[in-house]
Amino acid sequence: MDLFDKINALDQIYKIYDAFIDSFELACQRYCSTCCTCNVIMTSLEGYKIANHLIENNKSELFKKIKDKFYKKRFLPKITTNKIADFCIRGKELPDEKIDSSWENCPLLINDECPIYTVRPFGCRCMVSKTNCIDKAEMDSFVLTVNNVFLQYIEHIDQQGFSGNFTDVLLFMESEDNRKKHGIKDLTNPKEGLIKNLPMTILLVPPEHKNKVKPIINSIQTIKVRHKPN
Ligand code: SF4
Ligand code: SF4
Repeated sequence: MDLFDKINALDQIYKIYDAFIDSFELACQRYCSTCCTCNVIMTSLEGYKIANHLIENNKSELFKKIKDKFYKKRFLPKITTNKIADFCIRGKELPDEKIDSSWENCPLLINDECPIYTVRPFGCRCMVSKTNCIDKAEMDSFVLTVNNVFLQYIEHIDQQGFSGNFTDVLLFMESEDNRKKHGIKDLTNPKEGLIKNLPMTILLVPPEHKNKVKPIINSIQTIKVRHKPN
């Protein structure tokens, strides 16, 4: 798959997820931003899409907003979702990872609104709750399973790329050189903070959700890749 196909597949994945989540009664609404923390994780493919959006829509000043908060504490994952699945299947212990939702808001948040809402990464899309998070977030266990499936597929599509904190990935993708390299699958290990993506070898689905999740997996697997027009 070339980069155009991958972005196209990512857009379709987002659509499938949005349709899935529409069937739930959620407390999520505009200006509700407790979940917009500095700990969002994304892939380089998603970072590429957001960086392009900022550049093409004259919103490049938002890169500066992120750089200004770069020194702040944020979640830096040690392993990707597909690696976690691999570890779980092989009974290996997961690394200790420090994450705290009280660290900081997302550096992009403006007046409780997301300035990149239409292109926000999956890590933001999948933050949903049946109750207002100011009191207590409540996520359906099946939604958690489905979220994991989507995270695994997105990483799989971007298996030549990297994952990391939203801040680190987006600043990495601000570089035109890195965006070009991503396009020709020549992205080299960037710097501390980003981790190599992996292909999906096994889906982490608990036995009680195996049947229920099948139609969603089928929808993802039937994604049609639209090839780049000449
Ligand atoms: S996940 Fe929680 S904070 Fe985020 S929009 Fe939904 S209810 Fe609001
Ligand atoms: S990118 Fe947007 S949706 Fe995601 S955490 Fe930041 S402000 Fe919220």
